[in-house]
Amino acid sequence: MANQEDIFKKVISHAKEYGYVFQSSEIYDGLSAVYDYGQNGAELKKNIREYWWKAMVQLNENIVGIDAAIFMHPTTWKASGHVDAFNDPLIDNKDSKKRYRADVLVEDHVAKIEAKIEKEIKKAAKRFGDSFDKEQFLSTNQRVLDYQAKADAILKRMGKSLENEDLTDVKALIEELEIACPLSGSKNWTDVKQFNLMFGTKLGASADTATDLYLRPETAQGIFVNFLNVQKTGRMKIPFGIAQTGKAFRNEIVARQFIFRMREFEQMEMQYFIKPGTQKEWYETWKEKRMQWHLSLGMGADNYRFHDHEKLAHYADAAADIEFRFPFGFKELEGIHSRTDFDLANHEKYSGKKLQYFDPEENKSYVPYVLETSIGLDRMFLAVFSNSLQDEELENGSTRTVLKLPAVLAPNKVAVLPLLKRDGLPEIAEKLVDELKWDFNVDYDEKDAVGRRYRRQDAAGTPFCVTIDHQTLEDDTVTIRHRDTMEQKRVKLAEVKEIIHKEVDMRYWLQKL
Ligand code: ATP
Repeated sequence: MANQEDIFKKVISHAKEYGYVFQSSEIYDGLSAVYDYGQNGAELKKNIREYWWKAMVQLNENIVGIDAAIFMHPTTWKASGHVDAFNDPLIDNKDSKKRYRADVLVEDHVAKIEAKIEKEIKKAAKRFGDSFDKEQFLSTNQRVLDYQAKADAILKRMGKSLENEDLTDVKALIEELEIACPLSGSKNWTDVKQFNLMFGTKLGASADTATDLYLRPETAQGIFVNFLNVQKTGRMKIPFGIAQTGKAFRNEIVARQFIFRMREFEQMEMQYFIKPGTQKEWYETWKEKRMQWHLSLGMGADNYRFHDHEKLAHYADAAADIEFRFPFGFKELEGIHSRTDFDLANHEKYSGKKLQYFDPEENKSYVPYVLETSIGLDRMFLAVFSNSLQDEELENGSTRTVLKLPAVLAPNKVAVLPLLKRDGLPEIAEKLVDELKWDFNVDYDEKDAVGRRYRRQDAAGTPFCVTIDHQTLEDDTVTIRHRDTMEQKRVKLAEVKEIIHKEVDMRYWLQKL
């Protein structure tokens, strides 16, 4: 079996080869951690965004969507805490001259301990066979308990040190754990320093009157500053939500994992405004709802897990990540944060404007609490894309590369293929394309043998191929081929549209929620 690194390399090269993701400004040798989406990538991204928007906004009566500007008044970022606290701890290796996030070095070390636990589980499952009880094993096996205690203690200590801004202790921890630079193996580290991740820019033509601005590092603040506008004009009653998708920018210290960590990326965020004191229930509810949304795509429950935060961000009283099994292991895909009244109360303080809600049931005004769900669109793209890319052994001994994207998200839903370039077959095919294109993105392909065209569509992720052949001329039937099963069926030309609708419409997928 190919190792993780090879799989990830294949994901990156496949994304390029099939028009999904290109390095930005590639002809100038690219720009670090910035990427462009190609003809297929733009469609996949749009479909993921729409799948999220439908589930969050359209299907929830009390959630509405906005589109705030990327530029915001600079005081926003003072109030939100980003000017003072949106830092990552960085550390340099003196020998390799490579820069790392100190917390990530420690987390990677803990991941190695967790991998040892996984190994013990596998060994024991093999030894005990059907009678293996994982829960019992985890709670009684001394070796596993020791590993777990070690992992927990490390994370706890780091969480505490970061919270107390004790960067000396973070360095001490790295030294005690004997963490080496993954590149050079050297343990020769600099001190840990804080680094602010916001990009600064200027607004205005002349240097002396220009205002210093930041590119927003999260979309959430555009929602907070519009809280009252939306509440009043939409006559919203608590609890209610405001959703938004859009670009965010972070000057990430280490950005080496393709579109997992970018400097310019897109977020899909929802802020749910609630009565103070109800945050625990809403936190649990939204954790559950968001996990259901992920599971509705059918990418395997085993590939997701929750990770509760030890170290809370400056605004949160509880936080969990939904982690996904990426080609390089389980990593954060989405965050669910209980943000209390941190943001609204601070915006009140800095703006001098009241940001309160009059609750008719309680007959009083208060600053609402906020429950946030925040997912990176590009990270979701990587989750979907990497999970879908598979090499399959076929019965005849050959292999095929297939991109098993959830059909609802696939860029092209169907490819129409005339078996031959003559005898009136292309004309029928083009007529079908003209009919289907009102409902779906359709690809038309008449080049090469049909088997090769199937392979091309498999690799590009198209869920259906419809082939027009000589029999079509006689009885108006066509062959419809399913990407995942490779099953081929003869159906009436007039039924094709309906068959595809049943498999690709968001309605059928989101009904599972
Ligand atoms: P990480 O710990 O990976 O840096 P974070 O905890 O800072 O992420 P949040 O601020 O909670 O992330 O942002 C919410 C979501 O936005 C993340 O779950 C992730 O999907 C996405 N995201 C954050 N930073 C990036 C980035 N640099 N590139 C791509 N997506 C990102």
